[in-house]
Amino acid sequence: MIHRKLRGCLQPVAKLIANLACRIGEIPSIEQLEAQLHDKHCQLKAIDAQQKALYRVISKIRASLDLDVIFRTTTKETCKLLRVERVAVYRFFDNWGGEFVEDFEFAEPGWDFGALGQNTIWNDSYLQEHQGGRYRSNECLIVSDVLTEGLSQCHLDVLEQFHIRAYATAPIFIGQKLWGVLAAYQHSQPHQWQHQEIQFLSQVANQLGFAVKQAELMARTERKAEDLRLINEQQEILFNLIVEMRESLDLATLFKTTAREVRKALHTDRVGIFQFDANSHYTSGEFVSENVLPEYDSAIAFKVVDHCFGDQYANRYREGQIQVLSDISQAGLKKCHLDLLKNFQVKAQIVVPVMKGNILWGLLCVHQCDRPRVWESTEIAFIKQLAAQFSVALRHADLLSQSDSKAQQLDQALQALKQANEKLEKLSNLDSLTQIANRRFFDQSLKSEWNRLLCTEKYLSLILFDIDHFKAYNDCYGHLAGDQCLIEVTQAVQSVLKRSSDVLARYGGEEFAVILPDTDQDRAVKLAEKIRDAVKNLQIPSKGTQTNRPYVTISLGIASQIPRMGQSIQDVIRQADQALYQAKAKGRDMLVCAPLIQ
Ligand code: GH3
Ligand code: MG
Ligand code: MG
Repeated sequence: MIHRKLRGCLQPVAKLIANLACRIGEIPSIEQLEAQLHDKHCQLKAIDAQQKALYRVISKIRASLDLDVIFRTTTKETCKLLRVERVAVYRFFDNWGGEFVEDFEFAEPGWDFGALGQNTIWNDSYLQEHQGGRYRSNECLIVSDVLTEGLSQCHLDVLEQFHIRAYATAPIFIGQKLWGVLAAYQHSQPHQWQHQEIQFLSQVANQLGFAVKQAELMARTERKAEDLRLINEQQEILFNLIVEMRESLDLATLFKTTAREVRKALHTDRVGIFQFDANSHYTSGEFVSENVLPEYDSAIAFKVVDHCFGDQYANRYREGQIQVLSDISQAGLKKCHLDLLKNFQVKAQIVVPVMKGNILWGLLCVHQCDRPRVWESTEIAFIKQLAAQFSVALRHADLLSQSDSKAQQLDQALQALKQANEKLEKLSNLDSLTQIANRRFFDQSLKSEWNRLLCTEKYLSLILFDIDHFKAYNDCYGHLAGDQCLIEVTQAVQSVLKRSSDVLARYGGEEFAVILPDTDQDRAVKLAEKIRDAVKNLQIPSKGTQTNRPYVTISLGIASQIPRMGQSIQDVIRQADQALYQAKAKGRDMLVCAPLIQ
């Protein structure tokens, strides 16, 4: 009974002991444990080294915002760390083909790895068909030996072309978008890829995605800043141009300034202002102004005749549409139109209508000649604003030129009227026969000289002279000869008078007067002598007259006076007249001086 009980108690203990004995048999020995610890330590060290290496590579990648530098650093550092023969960065195109943008070889000199390298295009039909294939699901593709992996023949052929024996590739994502692939290649032999290597490649590819995104963001920011700078510059040019347009009311200057500034603002090759011929229904015209780089032909004065234009474009332009072509060869233009543009080497263009009121006056043409050019929306907005301002300026200039020509006509009429009045005035002061001053002018001149000399204590002298026996001369030679005699006598006397202030006038009939301002009696006498001689020296024959004198002579009376208040101008005339009478009485052909009036 006791035995049975004892056996019942001992049974589980024995089982336990038996179990323990089994377990002790499984426990590794101390040596084994030490070896495991060492392995773990090595693994951890390797992981730590790999992490450090990765960190180093990433720091280098992230240190730059320049894509080329980023790619170069990535391939070089990864190549060195993985100890593979080549690392390359491959970028997908939109059609899922792609090209290598950077590669780094790490091989013994003398190896030739084929045509793989920067800018090599590699269009993989599988990737193209599957739009990135397994890379899209962020998988790495690993092949340790291309010859033993059962790859398709066409795939093998491509790999063979680039001498690729083993490869590991990791996708590069920018955000959600599969951007490209980071690829490690072994050319000379197979390569058993380690888990850490693939992990490393994948992490670098991941970081490369961030770096590319950052660089692209930076480039976009820079582009935006550049765009803003250009917009600013264009706005400034536009503003200055509008001010200039408002001020410039002369069309030629307006055209010149506009063409120059627009070309400058858009950094383009030619800006031309084209004007349609009036009444041509938009089928012909010419460039009236342009600004063009010296290497391109001038379009000025080139007669453009384009019958298609009137039907095809005129209406659209009239409605305010503009034509923006980034590549004229791809724009589906008619041949005639293309040929026309080729004359001016145009590759891309913007054409904006220029209106005068509601009439399509012409076109503002912006030409790019060296290459096709995608026009920015800001550039198009700029040119639209400008053309609107240009149209306003054109209208202003036109209105001004109209009012200018009216003003000019008015001015011409006024000038003509003035000249006619002057002529009339002259005529009213002239003696028609002798063309010297008449009595009216004499009266006026004498009066004004008298008044001018009042209070100056200067002499005013007056000579009156009369042709001797002129009645007899007329009777003998006829009235016409008498007239001619009068003309010759006045010309002779006029030639003696040198001062512009001296006035010779016909006093009446064959009697003349000479007003001599600022002239005292002595000078007046000398001048009178000269006058008498000049007439006599004409030697106008008068022998036929009953007086029997050989030549025509004159008699002269001289009076001089200092004009003073309270004295009369008439006294001077009377005195001169009396002196003349005396000269006649004394026998003619002589001069008599009136006594000075104090
Ligand atoms: P004296 O020597 O005294 O001056 O004699 P006179 O004959 O010149 O004098 P008188 O006054 O008697 O004659 C002036 C003449 O001059 C009279 C007139 O026929 C003439 N006469 C006056 N005006 C003209 C004119 O415009 N043409 C011509 N041919 N003769 C004129
Ligand atoms: Mg006379
Ligand atoms: Mg007389």
